[in-house]
Amino acid sequence: MAVPKKRMSRSRTAKRRANWDVITVPAHGKCNNCQAAVRPHRVCAACGFYRGKQILAVAAPAASAE
Ligand SMILES: [Zn+2]
Repeated sequence: MAVPKKRMSRSRTAKRRANWDVITVPAHGKCNNCQAAVRPHRVCAACGFYRGKQILAVAAPAASAE
């Protein structure tokens, strides 16, 4: 069984745990079609575009071009 060679100091433990509750903003970019915030590698939820093409049919598409 793996056993730690040295006892970890309190400060080192505290430094590691200091990052537990850090809330980060999810990675996002802007839709090339409608400028809405979109997660990377995801179809835009607002207009249904991905990589310049209409992928999903959305109720009110901003613009459609095949
Ligand atoms: Zn969009």
